[in-house]
Amino acid sequence: MNSSLPRLAIVGGGFTGATFAVQAARRSPIALDIVIIEPNAELGRGLPYRGSDPDHRVNGPIATHSIDPLDTSHVQRWLEKTHLLTQDPGAHCSFGTFLRRGDYGRYLHEAVQEFASRNESGSTIRHQRSRVDQIHLTANQVALKLQTGESLLADSVVLAFGNPAARVPPMLQDLTEHPSVISSPLAGDGLQALCQRLTPGSQVAVMGTSLTAADVISTLLRQSSGVRITAFSRRGLVPHRQRPPDAKAQQNLPQTWLVDRINGQVPSYLDPGYGSAWTVRHLCAAMRQRIKSLTSQGMPWQQGFDEARDVVWQFWPLLGHAEKQRFFRRLRVWYDVARFRLPPQTAESLDKAVAAGRLSFCARSLVNVKALNNGRLELQFQRQGQSIEQEFDALINCTGFDLGGDIDPLTLAGRMVKSGLLVRDQSGVGFRVDQNCRVMGFSGQSSPRIRLVGPATAGVFGDSLGAMFIAVQAHRMLPSLFDDLGLMPYF
Ligand SMILES: Cc1cc2nc3c(=O)[nH]c(=O)nc-3n(C[C@H](O)[C@H](O)[C@H](O)COP(=O)(O)OP(=O)(O)OC[C@H]3O[C@@H](n4cnc5c(N)ncnc54)[C@H](O)[C@@H]3O)c2cc1C
Repeated sequence: MNSSLPRLAIVGGGFTGATFAVQAARRSPIALDIVIIEPNAELGRGLPYRGSDPDHRVNGPIATHSIDPLDTSHVQRWLEKTHLLTQDPGAHCSFGTFLRRGDYGRYLHEAVQEFASRNESGSTIRHQRSRVDQIHLTANQVALKLQTGESLLADSVVLAFGNPAARVPPMLQDLTEHPSVISSPLAGDGLQALCQRLTPGSQVAVMGTSLTAADVISTLLRQSSGVRITAFSRRGLVPHRQRPPDAKAQQNLPQTWLVDRINGQVPSYLDPGYGSAWTVRHLCAAMRQRIKSLTSQGMPWQQGFDEARDVVWQFWPLLGHAEKQRFFRRLRVWYDVARFRLPPQTAESLDKAVAAGRLSFCARSLVNVKALNNGRLELQFQRQGQSIEQEFDALINCTGFDLGGDIDPLTLAGRMVKSGLLVRDQSGVGFRVDQNCRVMGFSGQSSPRIRLVGPATAGVFGDSLGAMFIAVQAHRMLPSLFDDLGLMPYF
């Protein structure tokens, strides 16, 4: 550590913290002392990439998952160096290469190590294993109080603390300790333990039908032979699958192709025209028309969807708060099934299970759960005004995160809200930041020393949830960060 260098502290070492550190080290005009504060042993893994389930795969092609969006072949080079695909021949299919999430986590960890002491600016990246409990501004620095009791002073802080804890629906809150209820399948080993207890013929209810549900179902199908699975959600919508790659479009791409795609121009058909307000209704109609026109020419619908999705961060801020709230309330669920697509391997295993009668998806709302004396659960559903009761051997909650839910006052975000450094975005989702991700606290002023990046900025940018969007978001805001630190102009 060199204490004379400007210090950049990154709170959270998941994908967001990892890509931010690597890009800062590679692009800074001078050497920085970069410290990532993360309680987990390995950087990059965060929540999604720490497990070892062979059926949980990254849901996009590897070139969009590089740690550095200006070096999109970096994952491919790592794969060649490690020969990883020899241990996972199923990763490659006609749609591209879809890594196991645990392997991708290893990639991210090793990528941070690769650049930790050897990078273009001569910066260092250190991992401090702890949790940040509190942050406050001093006269010209930021003070971080760590769980270990230590304090750390930094010239600039990037908050990369990811998603809030998974939501536990009200009817499950008294049952979180019940052995047949898995309220947080991604945390701990409750799901593995359940799989071992289930026997052929066991009936399992999966609450939620999105990507988390798809992962959990894949695990159940492999590890608990003969179980019958009913996955339900209010509308019963299941994510679409990834599209086959467009080989022609991928030829002779410049190194900047991913950044160019996301930072490129908003298609003119999305613009409502001079003097007209941007509305969700107009956007939906324009996208529908575009998709119709593309599919009538034999092109995949995903192409039209992705054109808008890639630049959503540019037009989302043009929508009023009421429009954003309308989207989150009414349309998000439809957007999500097209946006968060299934890796082809997962899609195939679900299709087979449906065809074999082991899995069904349905639209119904859960209203109550009763624990029966025989260890089973009685679920009460509501569907089209009718009440249905059904018994199951287990219930797994896959309803995911709620970026608009209550903020836990015991988390760093909760404490920063209390001290006025963070405020909820007016859309009701995530926290308020300016265009360069500087947090905007209670005073309404943006703070040049504290930035927030990644999923918690979804209210401001619409979609800052996937790896490629986060990586390009970091790329976009680095010049302003260097500027705020008083460093030479960005090169
Ligand atoms: C199950 C799942 C699968 C996904 N799969 C994909 C995918 O295939 N492709 C894709 O593009 N996106 C995927 N995503 C989206 C995902 O949100 C992003 O890819 C990315 O992982 C977000 O990274 P993050 O670092 O912001 O958050 P996280 O991965 O949640 O990491 C946040 C980190 O911050 C740390 N932290 C939190 N609070 C503190 C504190 N106070 N002090 C210090 N550290 C703290 C945590 O320990 C954690 O390691 C997936 C998401 C989930 C949940």
